[in-house]
Amino acid sequence: MARAKIIPVFVPHLGCPNDCVFCDQKRISGSLLPASGKDVTAALESARDRGLSGVELAFYGGSFTAVRPALQKELLAAAGPYLADGTVSSIRLSTRPDAVTEEGLAMLKSHGAATVELGAQSMDDAVLTASGRGHTAADTARAAALVKAAGLKLILQMMTGLPGSDRTKDTDTAKRIIDLAPDGVRIYPTVIVKNTPLEDMWRSGTYREHTVADAVAVCADILPLFEAAHIPVIRLGLNPTDALSAGDAVAGAYHPALGELVRSEVLRRRAAALLRTVPAGARVTLAVAPGRVSAMIGQHRRNIAVLTEAFGLSSLTVIPAETAGEDISLVDVGR
Ligand code: SF4
Repeated sequence: MARAKIIPVFVPHLGCPNDCVFCDQKRISGSLLPASGKDVTAALESARDRGLSGVELAFYGGSFTAVRPALQKELLAAAGPYLADGTVSSIRLSTRPDAVTEEGLAMLKSHGAATVELGAQSMDDAVLTASGRGHTAADTARAAALVKAAGLKLILQMMTGLPGSDRTKDTDTAKRIIDLAPDGVRIYPTVIVKNTPLEDMWRSGTYREHTVADAVAVCADILPLFEAAHIPVIRLGLNPTDALSAGDAVAGAYHPALGELVRSEVLRRRAAALLRTVPAGARVTLAVAPGRVSAMIGQHRRNIAVLTEAFGLSSLTVIPAETAGEDISLVDVGR
């Protein structure tokens, strides 16, 4: 089923009681002013003028439930007429785990909210402290349970490569997030954004950059865990923006096609496991699901080059499988 078009309204840093070391929310959202009910009306009027219906209104970028209740209601109430006429089919918002209460969720639901995204980021308290998050893993578990108990869809966001973390801790975070049974996850490998405390930490040598290669390695560990648990990964990597691409992402795991790089690495590993039994010098043909052929081949044919070299193959060809599935199979091994 096609996903509903998303109409984003950014709530930059609004209501956020602290400063996570990696965050410059105003810069990431590309917006400098706090949102108001008028912004919601303008965004939805424009959607309606374009003939859109059944859109999803998404409040991103802040700590929605930490905003003063009157403004939360103003923002949500502005969507009311558009929910009533079918322009909007659902509302989602993102917030901090320590800003979630049963009463607050009931208010959201009564105004038409359907999905709550929680910034879990890590399930390791030492990593959360080193990252200035101001909440604990227990806060995330408690908030996740409240969201589910309220009958709202739960999306959890996690980050890799935060201060004090490593591949093992990131993998452990993914496992603990799976235990919370979200309806989906977003994975954001850490990017060092200009003018953030993390940039200072990196420049002073107290934080080691989480490179694109580091992010690909750890995300290729954890993506299969979510797949095995049937939890959709709805985003992998920060959304590219002109400002980030023009230099606001000073270092770290910023790559416009990070998700594709990770999926390519997952397939390279699966192919490598199959090729262990193949004699050197063989001509090999692999079949993968039709939509995954280019990921299997890799950017600039990287996977083909790496696997051919590692297993001493005389050639490696990738063809689309007849059925769409996750698996890779060896369809031909010749000399
Ligand atoms: S809680 Fe969210 S908005 Fe607030 S500083 Fe952290 S990342 Fe930024």
